[in-house]
Parts: sequence; structure tokens; C-alpha cells
Amino acid sequence: MALDYFYPPYEVVRNFDRCINCRLCEKQCANEVHRYDEKSGKMTADESKCVNCHRCVAVCPARALKITKTDHAFRDNANWSGQVITEIYRQAESGGVLLSSMGTPKPLPVYWDKILINASQVTNPSIDPLREPMETRTYLGKKPGRIERGADGKLITNLSPQLELAVPVLFSAMSYGSISYNAHASLARAAQELGICYNTGEGGLHEDFYPYGANTIVQVASGRFGVHEKYLTAGAAIEIKMGQGAKPGIGGHLPGTKIVGDVSRTRMIPEGSDAISPAPHHDIYSIEDLRQLVYSLKEATNYTKPIIVKVAAVHNIAAIASGIARSGADIIAIDGCRGGTGAAPTRIRDNVGIPIELALASVDQRLRDEGIRGNVSIICGGSIRSSADVVKAIALGADAVYIATAALLALGCHLCRSCHAGKCNWGIATQRPDLVERLDPDVGAERLVNLVRAWDHEIREMMGGMGINSIEALRGNRLMLRGVGLTQKELDILGILHAGE
Ligand code: SF4
Ligand code: SF4
Repeated sequence: MALDYFYPPYEVVRNFDRCINCRLCEKQCANEVHRYDEKSGKMTADESKCVNCHRCVAVCPARALKITKTDHAFRDNANWSGQVITEIYRQAESGGVLLSSMGTPKPLPVYWDKILINASQVTNPSIDPLREPMETRTYLGKKPGRIERGADGKLITNLSPQLELAVPVLFSAMSYGSISYNAHASLARAAQELGICYNTGEGGLHEDFYPYGANTIVQVASGRFGVHEKYLTAGAAIEIKMGQGAKPGIGGHLPGTKIVGDVSRTRMIPEGSDAISPAPHHDIYSIEDLRQLVYSLKEATNYTKPIIVKVAAVHNIAAIASGIARSGADIIAIDGCRGGTGAAPTRIRDNVGIPIELALASVDQRLRDEGIRGNVSIICGGSIRSSADVVKAIALGADAVYIATAALLALGCHLCRSCHAGKCNWGIATQRPDLVERLDPDVGAERLVNLVRAWDHEIREMMGGMGINSIEALRGNRLMLRGVGLTQKELDILGILHAGE
């Protein structure tokens, strides 16, 4: 007799006094949880299929549904939690690697929450951002080490290509294939309206989005999917992806079931074939090799585009960043271990890498100590959740931040962490046409624009409160930060004082 080891983690609670049997929940659930039972004339639910994405709750016109966590429990055991036991059952059944989506749910330290921001009082008065000029525009790229003047006394401006951002926030890499056409359309339109950039990820650039090139970062990853000359010249900057915070040290895998139609054409691989990007770039084994790729890309685009090198935050990140800053790259993007993903092995996502706050602070300090901070700008990402995180990141040394999960939440994502299944009920992480059309790109773009504008207002308010009127003056200004509940070692790495000091 086959035994079912898995009790569903969620329960569908339906208020039958309210339910009008409209069957909307049944039609909208791609996981086929809800079903109308002709015999009883009532809706039923197969809870074993529920991923807790809340789509049914949102569409129910009668507010008859809610999803709760089951109180079915294993015997208390602080060492062998229900989650650990269930995962062992799963692997005993499948013999496979556990897969997960989005950022880790593990309670890793979130240093942003242990850092507090300063405000002016009495002396050094604060600035009212509604009445006085406040600059959140920022430029990413190599800055000159010294000012030069010609014989006529005029400044000689010979600036490397820069990426101009109206707000120091960019949409992080999410490939077409891992997310839908309409999600990409929303990101591209919003980036254009906001005067910022979105990022193709490693899936190439759909031909419909070439008009958004001035607001697009095109990525070159180890699989080289969709990379060709027109693609490289289409974007405002090129990003070499060496690593990703959610899965440092390994490559990517988009299952063949998602490689259909335009996704296969854009990636330039056959329909139905798995898109597997190798763990390393097979032509990069040293900083010298990286330098060759950086300059090949510069050469291919006539030295008009800044080159970003994206790496995962790992133990020796400061030394790695120092090498990248000397490789000719214009921007370093560092992705922390709490960063999101469309799909990653669970064990890697939850156990590899280091938090972005520590990585960022040590990279900024190392580049300053070596006198090469001006060689590169720094973008940091990996669980930036609010405008306060942005302000803290910039004060710790970043020039700008990448956001991805926050952007998907703005599009309607409910963090059910089932992207790898390809059945996203919100039309985001799916290629099923009936699901994709649920996300209206106009509405999506408007919501993204609202989110970033709201953050921009809040950033201005926090900067004004500190008596600072530009991102430039906030960048690396660690005196504006204080730690709470941190060890001396953590404070030293972050380069900040404890609250009260
Ligand atoms: S959507 Fe709501 S009202 Fe309609 S069948 Fe489902 S639970 Fe009932
Ligand atoms: S994008 Fe969709 S599938 Fe992925 S976590 Fe969000 S709601 Fe779930």
C-alpha cells in the first residue's frame, strides 16, 4: 500500500455561507486546487496542490476564502523541525536535488534592521526636500582620479561612459523565460518613465524591447544565450554575470518546458531544450581573462558602454572586487546571499554566500584603502526591501541598488516561492499564455513607477533629515549610521559606531 507522507502545509478555508459557487477560484488556479462537486453542489479543494499564492483569495467576489497554515504538527523537536523531516521524505522519494524559488526564507541576519540612520537636530539644520533642491540623480561609471585643465585653463573632460539614473535604484536581472513577456514589458516601460534601467538577465532581449535600449542593461552570462552584436549595442550598459547571490558558484537552469516560442528565438536555442548555463565562464579563470572579456565587449561597442561585472557576495569578496576594479570594468554589482532567484538548489540558496551589508562595507573599504574606489561604481542587491535599505546601502558605500523581489511584489507577486513550477497565477514567472495575459503591462508599469517614486520621496526625506542634499554626499558617509545589537566585530566590518557613541 502506497503511503502519503505529506500533509498539506496550507488549508483552504471556505465560508460556505458566503460562497456563491461562481467557480472563479477554480478557473483562476493554475494548480487546480479548487473544483466544483456536482453531487454536493459545493466547491471542494485539493489542498495538497496549494502553494499559497493568494490568487483565489484576491479574485473571490464574495470574500469567502482564506488560506491558513496547517496546525498539523510533528512532535516538537528543536533539532529535527517539520520542515527538515519533510525535506528528507521528499528526497527519499525523488532521489533529486531540492529546488526553490525567490530568496531564502531562513532567518539569516538582516543587518539593515540593526542599523539606524542619523538626523540633524539644532546644529547642521535639516533640509526640507519640498522647498529646497535635493538631488537623487546619480551617474555610474569610472570617475577621473584628478582634475585636468588645458593651456587655456578650461577643464578637460574625458569621462568614461556613464550610466545616468534619475533615482539610485535599478531593476535587477530577471531573464525573459524565467519571467513573462508582460513582466518584462512592465519593467521596460517603468524604467523608461522613471529614467532608470532594467536588466535583461541571461535570456537575451526580445525584439519588441529594443526601443527601450537606453534604459536597458544587457547581460552576458556563461551560457551566452541571445548574445549577438545588435544585442550588445542595444543596451545602455553591458553586465557580465559571474555570479548570483542566491546561487553562488553554480550556473543556471531553465527547464525545456519554458523554452517555447519567442523565449527560444530570443535565447537562440531550440524549443524544448534545457537552457543550462555553466557554473564558470569557460574563458575566464583569472582577472586577466575577465579583463579580456571586458575589453572585448568594450571593443564590440566602440567604447561607448559602461561594463558591469556582477558577482555573488562570498567570503573573499573584497579581494575579488579589487581585481574587478583593476580589470577595466566600470561598475561592480554585488549580490548578497538573501537575493532572489527563479530557481536554485535549496541547499545552495540557504547556505552559501554572505549577507550583502558585510560584503558591501568590506568592498567599499578595500577599494578606498587601495586608492581605487573611483575606478568603479558599486551597485548592491540581494534583498533591498525599502527606501530605508537604499539609504543605508548608499551610506555604507553603494552608488545605487538593484531591486528584483520588491519589483515583482509591486507587479502582484505574493511570494509563494513556486516560480520554478512555471504556473505563476499572477502572470509573472510563467510562459503559459492564459496566465501571462493576467498581468497587464500598463498596470504593471504604473505600479512599478509608483513604487520607485514613493521610495524616491522617502529617500529625499531621509537625506533632508540628515542635512544632506545629494546622493553624492551620502555615498560612503558611514558617520550617518549607527548599529544596535551588533558585536564589535560586526561593527568593525560595517565600519560604523554603536548607537550612543
Ligand atoms: S471564487 Fe469565492 S465565491 Fe466563487 S466559487 Fe470560489 S470561493 Fe465561492
Ligand atoms: S513570481 Fe509568481 S510564482 Fe514566483 S513567488 Fe511570485 S507569485 Fe509565486
